Amino acid sequence: MKCNFCTKPAVITQLYSGRSLCKTHFLKLTNDRIRKNITINKLFTPKNKIAIEVSGDVKSIVVCQFLKEFSKRMPFELYAVTGNAQAKKILKKIGIPVKARKSKGSKFVTSETLDDIIEANLFNLLKGKSKTRESIKILKDVPAEEIKLYAKLNKFEFVKTVKSEKKGLLQAIQDNIKQMEKKHPGTKFAMNKSFKNLNKIL
Ligand SMILES: [Zn+2]
Repeated sequence: MKCNFCTKPAVITQLYSGRSLCKTHFLKLTNDRIRKNITINKLFTPKNKIAIEVSGDVKSIVVCQFLKEFSKRMPFELYAVTGNAQAKKILKKIGIPVKARKSKGSKFVTSETLDDIIEANLFNLLKGKSKTRESIKILKDVPAEEIKLYAKLNKFEFVKTVKSEKKGLLQAIQDNIKQMEKKHPGTKFAMNKSFKNLNKIL
């Protein structure tokens, strides 16, 4: 399989978009997707204080690496909040200072992907709850498996032992969404759009 944009071999075929992408184009399009969310939604302004919640897992490290790179174009104060010793070592290499807790006036960034957001919304819907956690979610438009591939292709170091545990209803929701997406590619993006519209109405 070849990339849709050049002649290089594809590293991924996005069934929902019908596109196959090589490493270069996959990374470029993923960067564009995250950057678009930040700029269109005006998530940050220069001189912002930005606190990143870091568990050390692959998603939180992608957030750190992305924002470190992004801070070269838009100067803001960046720091991580973590208690994980291994994560602290990785953050030192990336060049992001660590604080024990979020300081006042900081914008709080978490690492939920498209999958996490749909799962949380569906969970709330089934449980009769309304709100998800207030935070800035820069990875919200990217499927979880693409974040993993993004980290792998960039050779990012992360804490492998940290896994988000899912139990009971949340696990069932995750399994069902996975199956639906497999049979009907694009379901996840469609669900996300529906939840956004629902949130506007409610
Ligand atoms: Zn390409």
